[in-house]
Amino acid sequence: MNAEVIAIGSELLLGQIANTNGQFISKHLAEEGINVYYHTVVGDNKQRLIGSIETAEKRSDLLIFTGGLGPTKDDLTKETIAEHLGVSLVENEEAMALIEGYYAKTGQTMSENNKRQALVFEGAEVLPNNNGMAPGMALQQNGTTYVLLPGPPKEMQPMFMNYVIPYVKGASQEDALIHSRVLRFYGIGESALETRIMDLIDKQTNPTIAPLAGHFEVTLRLTAKCDTKEQGEEMIDQLEKEILDRVGEYFYGYNETTLAAEVMQKLQDTDQTLACAESLTGGYFGHDLTKLSGIGQVFLGGIICYQNEIKRDHLKIPQSVLDNEGAVSEKCAKLMAENVRSLFDSDYGISFTGVAGPNDMEGKSPGTVFIGVASESGTNVYPLQLAGGRNAVRSRTVNYGLFYLLKELSGKA
Ligand code: ATP
Repeated sequence: MNAEVIAIGSELLLGQIANTNGQFISKHLAEEGINVYYHTVVGDNKQRLIGSIETAEKRSDLLIFTGGLGPTKDDLTKETIAEHLGVSLVENEEAMALIEGYYAKTGQTMSENNKRQALVFEGAEVLPNNNGMAPGMALQQNGTTYVLLPGPPKEMQPMFMNYVIPYVKGASQEDALIHSRVLRFYGIGESALETRIMDLIDKQTNPTIAPLAGHFEVTLRLTAKCDTKEQGEEMIDQLEKEILDRVGEYFYGYNETTLAAEVMQKLQDTDQTLACAESLTGGYFGHDLTKLSGIGQVFLGGIICYQNEIKRDHLKIPQSVLDNEGAVSEKCAKLMAENVRSLFDSDYGISFTGVAGPNDMEGKSPGTVFIGVASESGTNVYPLQLAGGRNAVRSRTVNYGLFYLLKELSGKA
């Protein structure tokens, strides 16, 4: 099944809003193994919408429309598609009850055009809107599936997950199940990773391997077509083993996890605590960790020691180290990690020092970074030379810090 997302709304063409609906729908269809080959954006114009539908029908089996289901005159999606397909619009009782209930509750007067929102295609499967008034709908005609969804993401997203995904799974898979798993890697580029597993990618049929470069990381989605979930798990386990034999040193977790979430989990599992000393990252590391609920159990806090005086006076880095080796040095990173660990009395101490750029510092070029990780078993300092602008360097530094910490916590450093 090949899908196409058609987002309707002149505000999208005028650049007033981004087509996040297209992104959301594509991401979740890909997870189900459904190909999305085209995104179309069209304004609130009947003729151009019909043109887009005719083009899409020639190349895609599943057309997903978002927007234009509301009560106003420019909301013409439903009427236009009904006319194009030659189906009539009938009132949907549940949708009408919802609309009437809303007006009764708020004491507002319902205008005639609000009733239009309760009209659906005759014979369509109606997709309830639990967060708004206009219901969605799905209809199959001549081998093409038409799905209509409201524009506002807070209405569209739950409707898509709760009703569209089960609907298209039923329509696309016949007896076969699709089972997938995402492997996440850090510290290796997409092309380097692909090169190391190229033969596996070349011979893939079932399960398939889909690489994707993310925010400074790479993911591989393994998708198996199978008869049972257990069979799918087994097929993916085997392929995962082959992949991790090659690139396991960069692997850090499955599916929707993050480096920070994995670090928190490992600290919680081993009942250990962490403190940080941040220079070039300026609090970025603490910010990333404290986004996670439950982190207070394991993260004690940290020091943002941006200036050398703070490193000296509060972290007790000797002036001689700052003068002779510099703040951006292996020695300074080591002492920062060890001293913050003892200052906070934590099991782990992590430090970040480096040149974010754009200018050189202490004769060192932008992207020169040292990350220290101190624990009971000693201190490791990881030198890095990172590419990118100032904030890319800072954010990559944090991710590398989480990655090294995770390795140490897993006993794989
Ligand atoms: P409403 O009942 O609110 O009119 P609707 O189904 O008619 O809903 P639109 O009028 O097309 O949808 O869009 C309503 C709002 O939804 C837009 O102003 C925008 O904020 C959001 N929206 C619409 N389409 C998209 C899209 N493709 N991506 C992200 N947001 C969107």
